[in-house]
Amino acid sequence: MNILERYHAMEYGPAPEAHNEADAWLAARDFSKSLFIDGAWKAAASGKTFETSEPSSGKLLAKISDAGAADIDAAVAAAAKALPKWSASSGYARAKVLYAIGRAMQRHQRLFAVLESIDNGKPIRESRDIDVPLAIRHFIHHAGWAQTLEKDFPEHKPVGVVGQVIPWNFPLLMLAWKIAPALAAGCTVVLKPAEFTPLTAILFAEICERAGVPKGVVNIVQGGPEAGAAIVNNPGVQKIAFTGSSEVGKIIRKATAGSGKKLSLELGGKSAFIVFEDADLDSAVEGLVDGIWFNQGQVCCAGSRLLVQEGIADAFIAKVKVRMSRLRVGSPLDKNTDIGPLVDRTQLDRVKGLIAEGAKQGAVCWQPDAALPTTGYYHLPTLATSVSPANILAQEEVFGPVLATMSFRNTEEAIELANNTRYGLAASVWSENLNLALHVAPQLKAGVVWVNGTNMFDAACGFGGYRESGFGREGGREGMFEYLAAKLPVGPAIKPAAAGSAQPVEQADGLAIDRTAKLFIGGKQVRPDGNYSLGVATAKGKLAGEVGLGNRKDIRDAVAAARACKAWPEATAFNRSQVLYYLAENLSGRADEFAARLVQLTGVGAKAAREEVEQSIERLFLYAGLADKFEGRVHQPPARVVTLALHEPVGVVGIVAPDNQPLLNFVSLVAPALAMGNTVVAVPSERHPLLATDLYQVIEYSDIPAGAINIVTGRSAELAGVLAKHDDVDGLWVFADADTCAKAEADSVGNLKRVWTGNGRSLDWAASDAAGEAFLRRAIEIKNVWVPYGD
Ligand code: NAD
Repeated sequence: MNILERYHAMEYGPAPEAHNEADAWLAARDFSKSLFIDGAWKAAASGKTFETSEPSSGKLLAKISDAGAADIDAAVAAAAKALPKWSASSGYARAKVLYAIGRAMQRHQRLFAVLESIDNGKPIRESRDIDVPLAIRHFIHHAGWAQTLEKDFPEHKPVGVVGQVIPWNFPLLMLAWKIAPALAAGCTVVLKPAEFTPLTAILFAEICERAGVPKGVVNIVQGGPEAGAAIVNNPGVQKIAFTGSSEVGKIIRKATAGSGKKLSLELGGKSAFIVFEDADLDSAVEGLVDGIWFNQGQVCCAGSRLLVQEGIADAFIAKVKVRMSRLRVGSPLDKNTDIGPLVDRTQLDRVKGLIAEGAKQGAVCWQPDAALPTTGYYHLPTLATSVSPANILAQEEVFGPVLATMSFRNTEEAIELANNTRYGLAASVWSENLNLALHVAPQLKAGVVWVNGTNMFDAACGFGGYRESGFGREGGREGMFEYLAAKLPVGPAIKPAAAGSAQPVEQADGLAIDRTAKLFIGGKQVRPDGNYSLGVATAKGKLAGEVGLGNRKDIRDAVAAARACKAWPEATAFNRSQVLYYLAENLSGRADEFAARLVQLTGVGAKAAREEVEQSIERLFLYAGLADKFEGRVHQPPARVVTLALHEPVGVVGIVAPDNQPLLNFVSLVAPALAMGNTVVAVPSERHPLLATDLYQVIEYSDIPAGAINIVTGRSAELAGVLAKHDDVDGLWVFADADTCAKAEADSVGNLKRVWTGNGRSLDWAASDAAGEAFLRRAIEIKNVWVPYGD
């Protein structure tokens, strides 16, 4: 045997990571008191505990205090007590605490990594090189945001006490993603780790004690779904940040509806890994291994759907199989291990069940010929071919080491297949042609797109999804907004319209021609489906005219027209800007008429009416000007990569406008949505809809493409409900009574559309705070596109 043959024949020897420090920590720690509340260690008031065990052996690791409602109440009370002082402390003071946490974690880096691998089962290579360093970077990065908060986020204040619930797949990293921005923003927190993986959060709480975090600022409770629900439903919490399954995310969306709690949801995914025929196939194979078998596939953004171009599919799959055969399945504490055990037996059973079902539906499942360790919840990496787009393995998040494969013919088909999912978390695009990759990335409905790479994360770059992958972003500037409340000029409570309220009958003096305003859908004035109309009263209670009484079918037509309009979202920002300027110009040409209408309908004086029209024109000017200025950013994370944080329209946005300042509020809501390239279905003021219907002609003369703006008059509460339940509406803004707002939030769970409500209050639309970035931010999704460079 020559030296080369010897080299190739060489077996891996065992390379165990020492775990004596972790064992000592586990042995010394008093887990009977494992709730960290108000700076002290407590047992659960009920005395209950739950067990956490080692996935590689099934061995019991510890019995952990199981928090009940009383413990959650105590934790929330402690956070509330600590809030005023913490939020009033200087940014520098908070920065020092965040930095101290990061440094203390660095000093115990290896202990964190070993404990994480013992408790979760992830290979030590991953916890040591990825989870723990990224968690540390998060705290140090956010020290900077704490210090620059006032300058970088003027007109914002900390949202208050934050409840945070996280999953088991990245226990320490998810904790860092949650706690670091909250503390930087001046919030106090109650965090609950997942019941499978409580240990590193306990070590983290010890770090907080040592790093000088004031009592009550960080509270860590332990337990399962009930403890999570107790946090979500606690009235002392002002914001819920949740990472976990889409199923539980929807429960939380419903539970918080109408509570006024701010909400961010980081949920599941079924991310596409797209390989074009001009990709560097060997690099793509390595990327794929990382994309789907990192952390045994228990990754929300796992590239679990391989889409490969037809011409190279066979060759690529052959390479993948060779590489899969070389993956080393074994102890998480062996430094050579690629694949450790799944987190728990329940997870293992779930994965097996999904594979069996996928096979029943026609998938061919292949696994390398390798032996599994005799104890623990191990599963071989699995490749499913002959997968139809409807197969359960192509649609459901498996959350295990299973890759579903499909092929595509051309770019359009790749995009269509990639977007054929209810999720929208991440995607990976492989091509040596950067033009092609950057052509595809904006067309993918996903919050993160990696070009020629996968699973890249950084504290400075936002992470989060579209659609049923949830809403909100974690990391960077956009992540900070999740823990801040914008200071809006909140007005009085909106009263619900009396059901079937009496309609005026007596015609107003001077109404020359009897005219019933129709609806405005797809660029045309159309009769309402039901052929009913609604009488509109003057300020004196007489009949000013009639408008169409829109119904469910009209909203459906309007949404279809908004969805079909491609010209507006695809127009350049400069083009949108010009059209909005033109709209302002045309409104200005009819200013007298609109002022007279305001006087007639709302009873304001001539001067106030004139002012409202002027402000409406000014606001159109503002958003015309901002249309090509509210742009994305370029991040430079610590690697050879640029991250383009692109601003994209949310999509089809429903808008339900209130009654006060009816022309100004309509313009203030519709213009920012249009400026960012959304198409709109607007329900104008129920009492004064003629201000919006009078705009039809202005819109028709202003070069707005058909379907970009659609207006359906009628009963606000009813139409808000239809919009909320419509799965082709991506965003919904509701300024109506409290009940209508609450229902809109609860009814939005179908597709988890982004809902913004006034919580039953209107705004003072004339105030300068009722315009600008706070509105534009609601009109966009931020997509982070990672583009590596270098040879
Ligand atoms: P899960 O939703 O079952 O549990 C997540 C957390 O919620 C746990 O702490 C759990 O105790 C708690 N919980 C469960 N029911 C609850 C309820 N009714 N009310 C309040 N809290 C409740 O999810 P999981 O199985 O622990 O984690 C896997 C999921 O997490 C996957 O779907 C994965 O995609 C997702 N995930 C998403 C991201 C992301 O950033 N988008 C990151 C990691 C994981």
